[in-house]
Amino acid sequence: AHLDRITKVDDSVHAFLHLDTEGALAAAASVDAARSAGTPLGPLAGVPLALKDVLTQEGVPTTCGSKILEGWRPPYDSTVVRKLRAAGVVILGKANMDEFAMGSSTENSAYGPTRNPWDLTRIPGGSSGGSSAAVAAFEAPLAIGTDTGGSIRQPAAVCGIVGTKPTYGGVSRYGLVAFSSSLDQAGPFARTVLDAALLHEAVAGHDPLDSTSIDAPVPAVVAAARQADVAGLRVGVVRELSGEGYQPGVEQRFREAVELLTSLGAEVVEVSCPDFTYAMPAYYLIAPSECSSNLARFDAMRYGLRVGDDGTAGVEEVMSRTRAAGFGPEVKRRIILGTYALSAGYYDAYYGSAQKVRTLIARDFEAAFSQVDVLVSPTTPTTAFPLGEKVDDPLAMYLQDLCTIPSNLAGNCAMSVPVGLAPEDGLPVGLQIMAPAMADDRLYRVGAALE
Ligand code: GLN
Repeated sequence: AHLDRITKVDDSVHAFLHLDTEGALAAAASVDAARSAGTPLGPLAGVPLALKDVLTQEGVPTTCGSKILEGWRPPYDSTVVRKLRAAGVVILGKANMDEFAMGSSTENSAYGPTRNPWDLTRIPGGSSGGSSAAVAAFEAPLAIGTDTGGSIRQPAAVCGIVGTKPTYGGVSRYGLVAFSSSLDQAGPFARTVLDAALLHEAVAGHDPLDSTSIDAPVPAVVAAARQADVAGLRVGVVRELSGEGYQPGVEQRFREAVELLTSLGAEVVEVSCPDFTYAMPAYYLIAPSECSSNLARFDAMRYGLRVGDDGTAGVEEVMSRTRAAGFGPEVKRRIILGTYALSAGYYDAYYGSAQKVRTLIARDFEAAFSQVDVLVSPTTPTTAFPLGEKVDDPLAMYLQDLCTIPSNLAGNCAMSVPVGLAPEDGLPVGLQIMAPAMADDRLYRVGAALE
């Protein structure tokens, strides 16, 4: 049924870069066989899923939305894919994304943008826009995305679905092609909080193949989603994440949701996180710095594309021709920014300062979480904007992640849940819930209560 739905709508939505019809049908058949044989099945057995094209799946093309990886078929499964398979999930194919996860609209994909199923002239968010659109368009009930500065929560918000960025280290990054290693986390998209929890629990857990993986039990997110109770919970509204620049309908739905939490017995207070103001500039030094280092591996020798290897050109020449042809403008912009920020003489002024700001943001969170159990804010300042509106204005595009970036910088967990449509444009609004590291269960308690 889902493959039929994809055939019907994906020409206009363009959520998928690659469909693995054969693999999906084989996985579904093996779940069927297990059921007939009476083998116990996992909670997600036979459930279809769209996988962001930044995670490796053995033998299936992985492009990261970039021409530089065109034709590359990874020889191994990422840990996320290994766990999905173990849970019986049926992977339908690879979902579109901004090139190397850099962007907020999926317009930076080298293979053309994805469209928002609510309004095909608008962006589905990004960088995991293919994953969010697939779920919103009923092409898949579940999807996996990755979130470095907001790339799960922002697309979830503008597509009217649930998306979680787990605690950093909660989900293994093994086989996740790195953008900014100290910020990247994979996580679930779903249409309900409980579905998201089931997927979260299936992919989370310690992995010796990822040195930053946390060796502790997975927070009980499924139980929390079932509990769906906020009585007595202390909820902090972040003062700095509202006001000027926020669309009135986004603010309105956000305030109504906060009132709902109060009526359900939560204790709501206003909390100040003064250093969140500096999160954006710090992120746009740290993420490009790490990206400039991570993307050095695309050297025309090891993976995918090779351009200008005419038998006379040297290694450096071929490398430079390949990178010039294989990377898009946003990736090049970030590599240049990052290389500059890390260069001798500038390192302390830029990268070093950004790291100090990162510490201040983590302290803001610590202070806030000494008073409240969770923090809330709108997920994005606006609803989905028209395709093309911000492509020539990277700074305007960067503002999409104003509310989401602090949690990545601190390594905390956060979720976006739908809280209705903005009255002025009829488009979905998301509310962000933020919790301390390894308290992912709190997100699901609050998220489920708001459903
Ligand atoms: N939009 C942000 C960026 O372009 C976040 C991307 C992400 O989370 N992968 O860096």
